[in-house]
Amino acid sequence: MKTLIKNLKSSGLSKAQIKTLKSILPLDALLLTPQEKLIYGTDAGGRFAMPWAVVRPQTVDQVQQIMHWAEQERVPVIPRASATNVVSACVPHMGGIVMSCLKMNSILSVDQRDFTAHVQPGVITYELQQAVRAKSLFYPPDPASLRVCTIGGNISTNAGGMHAVKYGVTRDYVLGLEVVLPGGELIRTGGRVHKNVVGYDLTSLLVGAEGTLGVIVGAWLKLLPQPPCSATILVCFAEENQALDAVDKVFTTGMLPAALEFLPAEVLSCLSGYASMPWPESAGAALIIQVDGTEAKVKEEISLVCSKLTDTLHLEIARQKEQEHIWELRRLINPASFRLGPDKCSDDVCVPRSRILNAVQGIRSIADDYSLPVLVFGHVGDGNLHVNFMYDGSIQGMKNQVAGCRREMLRLVLELDGSISGEHGVGLSKRPFLTSQPGSGVLRLMRGIKKVFDPHNILNPEKL
Ligand SMILES: Cc1cc2nc3c(=O)[nH]c(=O)nc-3n(C[C@H](O)[C@H](O)[C@H](O)COP(=O)(O)OP(=O)(O)OC[C@H]3O[C@@H](n4cnc5c(N)ncnc54)[C@H](O)[C@@H]3O)c2cc1C
Repeated sequence: MKTLIKNLKSSGLSKAQIKTLKSILPLDALLLTPQEKLIYGTDAGGRFAMPWAVVRPQTVDQVQQIMHWAEQERVPVIPRASATNVVSACVPHMGGIVMSCLKMNSILSVDQRDFTAHVQPGVITYELQQAVRAKSLFYPPDPASLRVCTIGGNISTNAGGMHAVKYGVTRDYVLGLEVVLPGGELIRTGGRVHKNVVGYDLTSLLVGAEGTLGVIVGAWLKLLPQPPCSATILVCFAEENQALDAVDKVFTTGMLPAALEFLPAEVLSCLSGYASMPWPESAGAALIIQVDGTEAKVKEEISLVCSKLTDTLHLEIARQKEQEHIWELRRLINPASFRLGPDKCSDDVCVPRSRILNAVQGIRSIADDYSLPVLVFGHVGDGNLHVNFMYDGSIQGMKNQVAGCRREMLRLVLELDGSISGEHGVGLSKRPFLTSQPGSGVLRLMRGIKKVFDPHNILNPEKL
């Protein structure tokens, strides 16, 4: 630990350390100049710290050698992929080297009989989805960032997406992992089999570990048959509580929608003028509901859902490619939100589905107390709400005001038996709240687990 502290105080690597890295990696896999390193100091979470060096290994052997060297030298290593995480999970705030996994980006196999894929961590999620689709297979986890983010990043954050309500999150599709531990040992957890109960479930433990336990260098993923058909229902209501009542009604049909998104009045108003609106101006809230399956099943589920939707202002059903314009509106919420303010404090809380109305109203009331515009929208199907407080950070005192508002909002979520993060994770941004959730007993066990995997605290230190 003493050596680590010494390294943190120093401005970077010694000449001898750089020489060793040069002997492990080819020339273009080691970045040392400030210009080259700059972008590796930040991620979508917005914080910045300059890395001492950036390594871009292409082979498992290189990862092992770097991890062996880093542990001996007590140099922190921060694994990184496309850096789309929004919680500053791969910012090297304690110094150290950033390890980009993007060059390990091959789909090693897609097995149509086993319904499995074996991939390297740097594979882009969308590219895997397309590759398995070509074989009539389906990899469901679909974070909105899927055209950029990677399987390694998704596994390390246990990413979810629109389809989580029916298909679950990344953890539900990880059958096994190949992982390099601090010190350089390569381990394999799980594998190609769909069922496996031999010992502790280390695969699940590594999913969502935010790169603090090991570097993922390979993954076996579970695939499903590709649903042949899908359709989307866009439905608008005059009042917000009618829309949220309708969520319950959809579930009482006994079917699981493939996606179920909630857009309140504030979101509809942000979108108006930003894109052409398919709904009347008087709409107070909207739901976007997707169903999928065989053609007959899709037809049946559409009529089941529509039979439950009453008092609607507008209802539109779009099939196959025609659905795209509706989902495009959903994706536009993020850019459109900046009409309310140049800065955003964004959270992804989750509450039990039965408490969504309490959460939406409670959060709005907290925002009102602080005179902050707020958007509360998202994956109501699984209770996962995006909360965006919009503000202008250049106004003096505003950041403190937003921080206070956010604290109250997270407290409310915990009172509702919710979780302070449904999909984005902890990183640096939610770390101060870990004593409230999961609490001191669980935290003690988590610290013990970290010590077993990483006794010298070199891997993504002081995160999570
Ligand atoms: C516009 C936008 C939309 C988003 N939508 C969603 C969404 O719908 N759902 C959702 O869940 N998230 C979403 N996110 C957040 C983000 O995309 C996810 O967290 C994603 O999984 C991060 O993947 P990445 O490849 O960018 O990983 P990075 O951000 O590079 O890394 C994420 C974490 O994984 C670790 N890591 C990366 N590679 C490895 C490896 N090989 N071994 C060990 N650790 C590793 C890093 O240290 C870090 O802790 C969104 C982000 C943006 C910007």
